[in-house]
Amino acid sequence: MATHKTRMLIIGSGPAGLSAAIYGARAGMEPIVVQGLQPGGQLTITTDVENYPGFRDVIQGPWLMQEMEAQAVHVGTRMMWDTIVEVALSSGSPFRAFGDGGDIYEGDTLVIATGAQAKWLGVGGEQELGGKGVSACATCDGFFYRGKKVVVIGGGNTAVEEALYLTNHSPDVTVIHRRDSFRAEKILQDRLFAHPAVKVVWNSQVDHFVGDPASGGLTGVAVSDTVTGEKSVIPADGAFVAIGHAPATELFNGKLELDANGYIVVEPGTPKTAIPGVFACGDVMDHTYRQAVTAAGTGCMAALDAERFFATLEFSRVKEAAGV
Ligand code: FAD
Ligand code: NAP
Repeated sequence: MATHKTRMLIIGSGPAGLSAAIYGARAGMEPIVVQGLQPGGQLTITTDVENYPGFRDVIQGPWLMQEMEAQAVHVGTRMMWDTIVEVALSSGSPFRAFGDGGDIYEGDTLVIATGAQAKWLGVGGEQELGGKGVSACATCDGFFYRGKKVVVIGGGNTAVEEALYLTNHSPDVTVIHRRDSFRAEKILQDRLFAHPAVKVVWNSQVDHFVGDPASGGLTGVAVSDTVTGEKSVIPADGAFVAIGHAPATELFNGKLELDANGYIVVEPGTPKTAIPGVFACGDVMDHTYRQAVTAAGTGCMAALDAERFFATLEFSRVKEAAGV
């Protein structure tokens, strides 16, 4: 068991945490990044990334994250293989975080970058065909289904927005929903219903995904009608599961303000939480954009604000030591 002290403690090693680390290290904050169970974050479970700026050719998500980590380490970040199981924020800076092996991390500032995870249906074929036809991000993967048949599963704003987005690429978009009405906002529903490329299959639950991961990937989605019990297979080259996301905020329940969906609440347009010196960036505070580039951008903002907070803290410490 050891105590690790730093000017900037970062929880999470996705694009948000690593971008905060790069900026923090270059500003002399000697950051520590606690990586968690998914070092590199969500992009390590995807393949092609075509929308991260700076790369004309397709790059691989895991490779991008290795490069971000290498850059963070190169400029002076300490990476820790640990998962935080508890945090102590109420007595202000320095903030303490407790690793699952008993180590303690103490940061003059704290950057929370624990991300969010897509919810999955948990049905057969979903995992096996992940990245081979089954996805949870139309903005990320929709482009791969140009001119092909796609389905979207869900009935909230995300599902309807994803379906509308997919019409940019596909002439044949089917939304599968388990009930007979959407919970999405009316304006989005109106747009969806008016779109000639979109069909809706109501009262249908997905039984499993059909296809061979080793040859050709997804070919269809097996569904049951919840009213008649009738079973059928909807042909599809791509299936987008859009049944919600779960931000990784259990650690902060009761310690920071969370919104109705569990995301950390920040001062609008900033990464500042209600506790001075504690910042949140990336998907953990952003249920709207959820992209690697926006996570990296807010990671940068968190580091810049943490540096400013630390400078003020240092100034008061110097004054206190001088008895001024
Ligand atoms: P995450 O990447 O979710 O990282 C969270 C980090 O926090 C992880 O390292 C995790 O281990 C750590 N963590 C969590 N809890 C703890 C804890 N208790 N202690 C310590 N660490 C913890 N975006 C794009 O821009 N382009 C794409 O092509 C693209 N493709 C995608 C494909 C898939 C399949 C998925 C799932 C997402 C994709 N995205 C894409 C979205 C993008 O991956 C996310 O927006 C981005 O990763 C969010 O970054 P983040 O740093 O906020 O969080
Ligand atoms: P959501 O509102 O929770 O909707 C999830 C949808 O998935 C619901 O229709 C739900 O069905 C369905 N679902 C859940 N579990 C399922 C399962 N196991 N099998 C089949 N279907 C399942 O999630 P969201 O759409 O991601 O939105 C999350 C939040 O972000 C919401 O507050 C939303 O308003 C907000 N958001 C806003 C915007 C915007 O303002 N433009 C865009 C995206 C998201 P039921 O309806 O039957 O429960």
